Amino acid sequence: MKTGQINVQTENIFPIIKKFLYSDHEIFLRELVSNAVDASQKLKFLSTNGEFKGELGELKVEVILNLEEKTLTIRDRGIGMTEDEIDKYINQIAFSGAEEFVQQYKGKEGAEQIIGHFGLGFYSAFMVAEKVQIRTLSRAEGAQAVQWESNGSPEYTITDVEKEDRGTDIVLYISEESKEFLEKARIQGILDKYCKFLPVPVFFGDKTEYIDDPKGERDENDKVKRVAVEVPNQVNNVSPAWTKAPMDLSDDDYNAFYRELYPTTMESPLFHIHLNVDYPFNLTGILYFPKIQENVEVQRNKINLYSNQVFITDSVEEIVPEFLTLLHGVIDSPDIPLNVSRSYLQSDGNVKKISSHITKKVVDKLADMFKKDRKDYESKWESLKIFIQYGMLSDEKFADKAKSIALIKNTDGTYFTIEEFKEKVATLQTDKNDKVVMLYTNDPEGQYGFVQKAKARGFDVLHLDGPLAPHWIAKMEQDVENISFARVDADTLDKLIQKDEEIPSKLSQEDEEKLKPMFEGVVNKEKFTVQIESMSSDDAPIIITQPEFIRRMMEQQKMGGGFYGAFPDMHNLTINANHAKIEEILNTKTAKSRERKVKQLTDIALLSQGLLKGEELNKFIERSIELV
Ligand code: ADP
Repeated sequence: MKTGQINVQTENIFPIIKKFLYSDHEIFLRELVSNAVDASQKLKFLSTNGEFKGELGELKVEVILNLEEKTLTIRDRGIGMTEDEIDKYINQIAFSGAEEFVQQYKGKEGAEQIIGHFGLGFYSAFMVAEKVQIRTLSRAEGAQAVQWESNGSPEYTITDVEKEDRGTDIVLYISEESKEFLEKARIQGILDKYCKFLPVPVFFGDKTEYIDDPKGERDENDKVKRVAVEVPNQVNNVSPAWTKAPMDLSDDDYNAFYRELYPTTMESPLFHIHLNVDYPFNLTGILYFPKIQENVEVQRNKINLYSNQVFITDSVEEIVPEFLTLLHGVIDSPDIPLNVSRSYLQSDGNVKKISSHITKKVVDKLADMFKKDRKDYESKWESLKIFIQYGMLSDEKFADKAKSIALIKNTDGTYFTIEEFKEKVATLQTDKNDKVVMLYTNDPEGQYGFVQKAKARGFDVLHLDGPLAPHWIAKMEQDVENISFARVDADTLDKLIQKDEEIPSKLSQEDEEKLKPMFEGVVNKEKFTVQIESMSSDDAPIIITQPEFIRRMMEQQKMGGGFYGAFPDMHNLTINANHAKIEEILNTKTAKSRERKVKQLTDIALLSQGLLKGEELNKFIERSIELV
């Protein structure tokens, strides 16, 4: 037996490792399993180029829990190490640089990713173990197996041992405070997270599988019985879809891989993009376009970043533009530097190139789909919409590239590109202010009456909905010349699209002065402005609207972007001067009967806008029943 000192500059770096990585102890397993995988692949490499002449055997990695000994072992059949190699690779660690680094980045976000890239990977074992043994037999012919042991102080011992199989066992004597790492489910969880796609088979314990009874016994229905058997539990898929060539994969394969990535997601993705670049940087991956739901938030952080099939992180904001984080899938690149701070990452040349490459690929794919089959593209628009609008609103470069594939839909289900839309606008009549007023609805069902009225008068009504619609509209107003948007229910049609000629009113000044207070008496004055307007007699008698600008303010407030303080939720109540019912009210003799009619007409108008609620709604229903 030999003892020695691990070559570290400071007395004891281990407490620093422990403290520094406090938040993410679990990555020790990623580091040790990746080392085992590396050792296996190195041997395979030596074998293919003839340097290793022995039997390769099954190159697998096993993770073994021993609850009696309180150990966790990572076992490989890779290249192993001789005593000299242990000395070189384990004892003479280049800690001086690492130590400086550790001091600098202590506690910083993302620091846990650094450890593996400073030759500290193996030592991360001491975050969870009070004692670590390396038992290893080198691939070299006639090598002597050795055991290295250390309890986390810089001292170690090295002894010759008996070991039959080539390869390395890393044995962790799990410390009391880390005993969670002796739980099967915890270990399985970590392996699922980091090791799911490692290129060498990784096994952890056994799992139950059901197979046809080998003895051929039959059940009451004369079917061969199914019996439970224990089989080794392989945690990883060694050749995930992104490592294969696109031409070897069918749509089903891509969908199956999506399921593998997100086992709890039921929906299939809309389409995928297979990334494959080897110059000037190395990048592979598959990005999926999800069916985006209304709620943008929950969809994020679904892109997983890998480095040579080792999971690194699922927060990729620094690597792809923000709007792309709505996509799902995998990016694998050994060229994304992980040993740097996040702010540095954004300014890294490779990362910038990767980011713009991905953006370009995404636009190309969309443009391709649009060109190939416009109808199909239109049918996917509802899911693409948020993504493309978000991208165009947040990223100028993307906006420029994507403007030919962004669509605008009307309530008849016709889609226009922005270019087509501009052409259309140029042919439309302007109002008396020389502007084209574009009517839209965000809810064709809820605003049905308004939409129908507008269409009956020959106006096209756009259907613009989704969480980004207000911003999208503002952008269109900027980009398309001479246009302003108004929601169909923002005012009466005649007010929204003002023409030079006016409809004559049947009411005298005196009539108007009588009418106004009647209606003001039945609504909350702080919330409703009562006005009289000369409209066509087939418009409703009372119309409740919310002015476009008030609604936009309210929407901004809801999204937290408003800076106007609390904005009052104001509506207009417009009396149609030319409607027969209004005339009838004026001619009604008794005050009581008049009030009833005013109230009823107002309630109907409120009801049609979804504004009649609670007690008022109840009273309205009771009154209406009596009328029957
Ligand atoms: P890194 O893997 O980043 O080089 P580590 O501290 O994890 O740093 O490992 C240091 C070195 O120890 C490795 O480069 C490798 O040469 C050797 N090593 C670690 N684990 C094994 C193993 N399971 N089999 C063979 N060699 C190993």
